[in-house]
Amino acid sequence: MNKRTKIVATIGPASSSEEVLKDMMLAGMNVARINFSHGTHEANGALMDTIRQASSETGKNIAIMADLQGPRIRVGNEKEFEITEGETVIVSDSPVSGNEKNLVIDADHIVGAFKVGERILIEDGTKELKIVGKTENGAKAEVVVGGTVKPRKGINVPDTQVPFGAVTEKDEKDLEFALSKDVDFIALSFVSNGKEIEEAKEKIRKILGRETDIPEIVSKVERKEAIKNIDEIVKASDVVMVARGDLGIEMDETNVVVYQKQIIAKCLEFARPVIVATQMLDSMINNPIPTRAEVSDVSNAVIDHTDAVMLSGESANGSYPVKAVETMAKIIRNTEKSAFDDYCKKCEHVQENKEYAALVCSAHDMARNSDAKAILCISRSGFTARMLSLRRPQEMLLVATGSEKTYRQTAIVWGVDAYLFSEGENIEEYLNLMICRAKEEKRIKAGDSVVVFMGGLPGGKKMRLVGIREIE
Ligand code: ATP
Ligand code: MG
Ligand code: MG
Repeated sequence: MNKRTKIVATIGPASSSEEVLKDMMLAGMNVARINFSHGTHEANGALMDTIRQASSETGKNIAIMADLQGPRIRVGNEKEFEITEGETVIVSDSPVSGNEKNLVIDADHIVGAFKVGERILIEDGTKELKIVGKTENGAKAEVVVGGTVKPRKGINVPDTQVPFGAVTEKDEKDLEFALSKDVDFIALSFVSNGKEIEEAKEKIRKILGRETDIPEIVSKVERKEAIKNIDEIVKASDVVMVARGDLGIEMDETNVVVYQKQIIAKCLEFARPVIVATQMLDSMINNPIPTRAEVSDVSNAVIDHTDAVMLSGESANGSYPVKAVETMAKIIRNTEKSAFDDYCKKCEHVQENKEYAALVCSAHDMARNSDAKAILCISRSGFTARMLSLRRPQEMLLVATGSEKTYRQTAIVWGVDAYLFSEGENIEEYLNLMICRAKEEKRIKAGDSVVVFMGGLPGGKKMRLVGIREIE
């Protein structure tokens, strides 16, 4: 059986050749992430073409995720300067003259939104300031932790209610480009609330001029605001990413694993696929083997019932991109074989579509209490596949769809092996095509039994059935 937990790998200079991409696909990568914070449209476009090419040549179902930079705030000063604990600094959105030191923030409207007591964290939180008052050109801040402030470094403002959405002007251009390349997922960085996600969805539907077969939204949870609004964010999203890098700056990093577990539980409750990201095998950027702590991190995410785990620098610009995927896949397989990766009880309390969930529950119970080798379903939108996956069944989960978008989007869903058929006319035909292919691939054989989940009956009747079918 294939590994069940999926792998998202960030593609960058170390992994942009067709050869490396193919090896990564064969090693177990399921989703290729392209970070639009880096690279030109030309380069990222070529990368996406190469990914599609490698996917068709390896026969692997690989989805593409375009990750938009979002409102990433940066140091706007042209030269580096020192700040020392206790001193006062003027914070503004363009340089001001005067004797006092001046931190320029490269983002509009943010300085005006600062309130007294709020923090400014620079370069992964290694420098810290606290707002102590307002001035005519901006705000006054006191240095809490000093150091060298360098141009272009990232800034986090965890306490501030930012007055702009998750999609910036740059993102709009990147979004249009990504949509023209038919990507499967759009990741939104630094989301703060559910409304931003709804707005992005609306924008996408407007650009594409259609309501179906559109990319799914991946919300990156990496702001303190996002933790506060986690319920509405999960509900508004198609997929959620626990982006532990910035989250560990905005929140106390010693609490990140607690948030990871809470966010995963929330996603299971609302039947949304979830990705755990950042530094999972970080030392493999330079070394061919991971640390024990990193192995344990990946294992634990699998045990938490995440849908996918992610590689960042390890696959984008490390020395061992293929090895990193192989290692991750091996950790996943070993963990899934163990007794610790069990049936997911959290889905017993699924919040939405309770009736459908009950049907899915009976399909799973049928599989558990019989000798069924697999659960088979037909899914137009991917919804049935996600609902079945939620229980983390031990049996294979084979899904047939007629939509190429759905097919690729299932690449991120735990345990789903999808088939794309264009020839089938109705449910019965899809089912037969799928059984045929699964037999060819030696996943099932004559004499095996499988559980079949029928979300709708042939002829469009509004009745749903779950049954056991013996393979001939
Ligand atoms: P995020 O924007 O989510 O915070 P990040 O900027 O930390 O992510 P990743 O996308 O996780 O970075 O990639 C890790 C590193 O790989 C980056 O810091 C960058 O150095 C490099 N990298 C990734 N994609 C590219 C690319 N397309 N071109 C050049 N370098 C890249
Ligand atoms: Mg990062
Ligand atoms: Mg980030």
